[in-house]
Amino acid sequence: MNKDADSILDSIYATSEKLYREMCSTKENDHASLFSDLTELGKSIVGADRGSFWKWDRRRRQLWTTSATGVDKIVIPDNSGLVGKALRLGKVVVTNDPYSDPDFNSAVDKQTGYVTRSILVMPVADINGNFIGAFQLINKLDGTGFNETDDVHKLSLPALICGIALESESFLEDSLHDRLTKLKNRMGFYNDFAHKYSRYLTPGCDRPLSMFICDIDKFKSVNDTYGHNAGDDVLAYTAGLIADACSDDDCAYRWGGEEFIMVMQNTNLEEAAAKAEKLRITLMNSDIIADGNIIRCTLSFGCREFDHRMSIEENISIADSHLYTAKESGRNKVIY
Ligand code: GH3
Ligand code: MG
Ligand code: MG
Repeated sequence: MNKDADSILDSIYATSEKLYREMCSTKENDHASLFSDLTELGKSIVGADRGSFWKWDRRRRQLWTTSATGVDKIVIPDNSGLVGKALRLGKVVVTNDPYSDPDFNSAVDKQTGYVTRSILVMPVADINGNFIGAFQLINKLDGTGFNETDDVHKLSLPALICGIALESESFLEDSLHDRLTKLKNRMGFYNDFAHKYSRYLTPGCDRPLSMFICDIDKFKSVNDTYGHNAGDDVLAYTAGLIADACSDDDCAYRWGGEEFIMVMQNTNLEEAAAKAEKLRITLMNSDIIADGNIIRCTLSFGCREFDHRMSIEENISIADSHLYTAKESGRNKVIY
């Protein structure tokens, strides 16, 4: 084996060992370092200047990556650029003269002054054959341009591992979201409490965490009058309003049927109730187009600031009792 091949093999072993150790460590791993280590490895195997792994967020019709810069998330529409082309065609795309390729998006070059001379994109698919992401390398350092046969041959293993990791990540994402409303579901709610909200539920946390639970009033009669499809449209519309009302510190969940929860970080009870009140008024005044009908709906709310001495369930149960009071006292109300 020649010296060059030895050093490539060495970098493959080094990356594999690092990833294996990370997998077996007890710390949480969101695959970010796996994607960046494997694109680094891809760069060194074929001698490229830049590497990135793009994920296809079909929900938002976006492609995004973090590993190109290491920190910031770069987001582009999913119908743009050569990554979009590779995903659309479901084939490897190689361009050694990108400026004459109509699919090449030169916006990043224009912004940064970087000159792209060659690009290789390998799309990756899930087990059902749906394309979900793409491994991209830019600018072969020796100036020869990418060779589809040779370079794909060398890059297949890191691209494959990125694909499998992304697939497992998207299974997890799907299991945490509700398809109809696109909000996180109950499992997503508990997952967030296990991670991003956990510090609020520990003694000594001096920042408030609040929530409201809300339930569409007389929703059964929407189904009974206009049909289940119209009911679904009302649910999706209401969920959209709740999602739009979220700031960066807030997150909305579909708790069940026609019940939703919003969790608000760094928010006290009065602020949470004010947000609920605003939402109540917005929905009350909205004409909802649902399966060809124009429908009006209202929401009842129960609000609660979390008490870290109680369990999540106990806190929700108190919010729920306020919601019950709102229902009992005439609906279309915020109680806290
Ligand atoms: P209240 O004001 O007391 O909340 O009355 P309500 O009619 O809203 O409450 P109820 O619990 O009697 O009915 C809720 C209905 O929501 C019953 C159920 O069929 C409907 N529902 C739950 N999930 C869905 C869904 O995904 N789509 C549709 N269309 N309906 C749903
Ligand atoms: Mg209801
Ligand atoms: Mg209900």
